[in-house]
Amino acid sequence: MTDWNAMADEDFRREVRAFFEWQYPPQLRYILHRARWHEMKDWWRKLCEKGWIAPNWPREWGGMALDAGKMVIYLEELERHGVARPPDQGITQVGPLIMRFGTEAQKAHYLPRTLSGEYIWCQGYSEPNAGSDLASLQTTAVLEGDHFAVNGSKIWTSLADDATHIYLLARTDRRAKQQQGISFLLVDLKTPGITLRPIRNLAGHEEFSQVFFDNARVPREGLVGALNDGWTVAKALLGFERLNIGSPRRPQYALNRLEMLARAKGLLDDAGFLDRFIALKLDIEDGAALYRRFVEQVKRGEPLGQDVSMLKIWTMETWQRLAELLVEAGAEQGVIAGVHDVAGVETDFLNPFYYSRPATIYGGSSEIQRNILAKYVLKLPS
Ligand SMILES: Cc1cc2nc3c(=O)[nH]c(=O)nc-3n(C[C@H](O)[C@H](O)[C@H](O)COP(=O)(O)OP(=O)(O)OC[C@H]3O[C@@H](n4cnc5c(N)ncnc54)[C@H](O)[C@@H]3O)c2cc1C
Repeated sequence: MTDWNAMADEDFRREVRAFFEWQYPPQLRYILHRARWHEMKDWWRKLCEKGWIAPNWPREWGGMALDAGKMVIYLEELERHGVARPPDQGITQVGPLIMRFGTEAQKAHYLPRTLSGEYIWCQGYSEPNAGSDLASLQTTAVLEGDHFAVNGSKIWTSLADDATHIYLLARTDRRAKQQQGISFLLVDLKTPGITLRPIRNLAGHEEFSQVFFDNARVPREGLVGALNDGWTVAKALLGFERLNIGSPRRPQYALNRLEMLARAKGLLDDAGFLDRFIALKLDIEDGAALYRRFVEQVKRGEPLGQDVSMLKIWTMETWQRLAELLVEAGAEQGVIAGVHDVAGVETDFLNPFYYSRPATIYGGSSEIQRNILAKYVLKLPS
């Protein structure tokens, strides 16, 4: 098995780049919508066969075990080639969580199936009346022998209709204090009693759903961590989620689009534009440096602290500013929906704008992240 971390950075970059250029389906480069499973499954399998589907996982579970420097190179090459992000919550979030909190039986069952793409995951945290205040969630899971009976509903569940499984938080003790009566469950979406209602987003795509649970019977083996201790598990996952959301991938992707367009339109000769472009590029570099620091922390086996909120704010707000500049750079075409041909470059100006808007809401809104930094990191009086 190759030790990627022992390779010189440039050799590693060359190898990754060559593979993406050779194997990634050209029709899926720089696609302008959130990639769906049916589009990405063949690419997933190729990455899997190569042993490259899980750059963040340890080798014993089939990952590449990349250190932070190599991880950033890997992400940069994905973006440089315009590789879309598959429905990868299993790799970025659930997998690391099962490795940390799961039983040996859960690891043996879920990890290989998640890696192979047999199990695709979505996240069932938010509810119609529990978003920022997640601990007020009302979905219940009542233990009846060797099963939980789950009732309630989850909302804004991204890519639920691509997923085979959902990880969810449910209330298992109604009498306990808010955060203490919650458990973390792994649930097969084919379980009778589970239905989905798609929700259309601003861009016109049905990329999330409301998920209803009507007496869905979930085997007890799906419980991760101790009964009623799901908050501990959920918090660790939020850390992984903020790290993943905070990766330089998304802003780097928008920057690449912007750069292509700017070259096509000759905008880089405009000193005012260039000034803003370079500032944003440097902001991405700062974010990437911060990201490397947190990746190293995870690799050392240290839990992520509350300071990871800083990464989420920085990366998402940088992405939004880039998307705004892309709309501006599009001038009169920038505010018209759809794909435009600008000097041979096909660009949808509004799509990155639409996609970056909710980024300061999902994974915990920027207001909430700032509250966390104020309270736990800066220890400001509340
Ligand atoms: C595109 C997208 C995808 C999503 N995907 C998923 C998913 O896959 N799974 C999932 O479980 N959830 C998902 N969500 C839901 C997301 O996590 C919630 O929208 C988010 O946590 C905010 O909750 P809310 O929408 O209920 O807003 P609210 O909590 O009602 O907040 C409304 C506004 O009030 C502000 N606010 C709330 N409380 C405070 C406070 N104490 N101090 C200061 N300001 C405050 C918030 O910042 C926000 O601006 C997704 C959301 C979006 C937009």
